[in-house]
Amino acid sequence: MNQNVSIGVKCPHCHTSLMDKDNFVGDREGIHLKIKIGGKTGNIWLCSAFECYQHKADIEIPQDEIAELFCPHCGEKLLYQKDCDTCRETCDICHAPMVSINLIEGGRVTFCSRAGCEKHLITIDNLSTAMNHFYRNYSYPS
Ligand SMILES: [Zn+2]
Ligand SMILES: [Zn+2]
Repeated sequence: MNQNVSIGVKCPHCHTSLMDKDNFVGDREGIHLKIKIGGKTGNIWLCSAFECYQHKADIEIPQDEIAELFCPHCGEKLLYQKDCDTCRETCDICHAPMVSINLIEGGRVTFCSRAGCEKHLITIDNLSTAMNHFYRNYSYPS
C-alpha cells in the first residue's frame, strides 16, 4: 500500500461517514473530526491518504498535547474500541490513549491522540475486498 491509496472512514457510534467533500487536505477529501486540545474545541481534518500524517485545523494544535476527538455528527467521543482484537488502548511509543474509527469497508484505523506522534495502525477486516475497492479509486456509497 502507498500514499496513492485513500481510506474512507465512518463513526463507530452513529456510522455516519466522516469524509468531508468540502474540506480537502492536500488533494483528497479530509476526515472531519471534532477536537478538544489545550482547553479549546475546534475542527480537524486528517488526510485520507494511506500513511499520510498531514492535517489542517481551525484551532491551534499544540505539539505533544493529548487531544480528545469526537464525531462531528453525533458528538460521541472516539476512543479505543473494546471489541476490536487488533486495536490498542494506549500508544506503545508515548503511552497516550489511542483513538479508533471505522473503515467504511470494514476494519479500523487506530491512531495516537498525542499531537505530533505518528503512531497509526490500520486493520482491514476483509483485505481483498477493501483493496479491490481502493484500487477502483475509492468512491463513497451515497
Ligand atoms: Zn457519530
Ligand atoms: Zn503516541
